[in-house]
Amino acid sequence: AYWPASGELRVENLSARYSPEGPEVLHQLSFHIKSGERIGVIGRTGSGKSSLALSLLRCIYTTGEVIYDGIPTSSMNLDTLRSSITIIPQVPELISGTLRQNLDPFGEVDDLMLNGSLRAAGLTALQDHFTEDEDKITLDTTISGGGSNLSVGQRQIIALARALIRRSKLLILDEDYKTDTIIQTSLCHELTGSTVITIAHRLQTIMDSDRILVLDAGNIVEFGVPADL
Ligand code: ATP
Ligand code: MG
Repeated sequence: AYWPASGELRVENLSARYSPEGPEVLHQLSFHIKSGERIGVIGRTGSGKSSLALSLLRCIYTTGEVIYDGIPTSSMNLDTLRSSITIIPQVPELISGTLRQNLDPFGEVDDLMLNGSLRAAGLTALQDHFTEDEDKITLDTTISGGGSNLSVGQRQIIALARALIRRSKLLILDEDYKTDTIIQTSLCHELTGSTVITIAHRLQTIMDSDRILVLDAGNIVEFGVPADL
């Protein structure tokens, strides 16, 4: 149980822009995501998928309300907000140091927990492909150059493990993942009860979501169960 079973999200009249005088990229979006729902977000390039993810963390200029577990994010401090909601970008940044330091920079968590989070995130499944021991990642593996000695898939799994350790209640995966089968399997099997928003280019990635939100030019054009699309 790495993941508290909450993460309700209510969005009301959310508009967003990248600079105070810049063009609006999201237009008055309103929707509600229940705790534990699996949401897929899809739309063509430039439709606003990443902007929506950034808006939920108040990383760009927004108006309207984002209400997270009943609390408006406008009244939360940004540290609380950003430790409660995790975005995993397409190419996660790691720090130079050991994997242990990346997962637990302040040395607060024991190895059993750290290894458990890596297993839950799917590292074991990924490593099953490797035959040589030296190709396998352990807590003592040195990560260099922000993670450039690891594959993108390995970095995504490490970022997911980090989110599990931080107990983020809401997880947003931006973009299709090279390892998306592993990640999606991890999410389904290990994280039941958590709220997960997966942003995808390919409908295939998100077909087993509870609901799919379709964006077009900064507007919601559909939000329903996959069978209705
Ligand atoms: P993709 O599928 O290519 O990732 P997306 O759906 O994530 O696209 P966004 O990146 O959210 O789309 O882009 C929405 C709008 O915001 C586009 O008009 C884009 O040009 C603009 N935009 C994106 N990033 C920035 C930025 N850093 N500064 C200014 N405008 C931006
Ligand atoms: Mg994007």
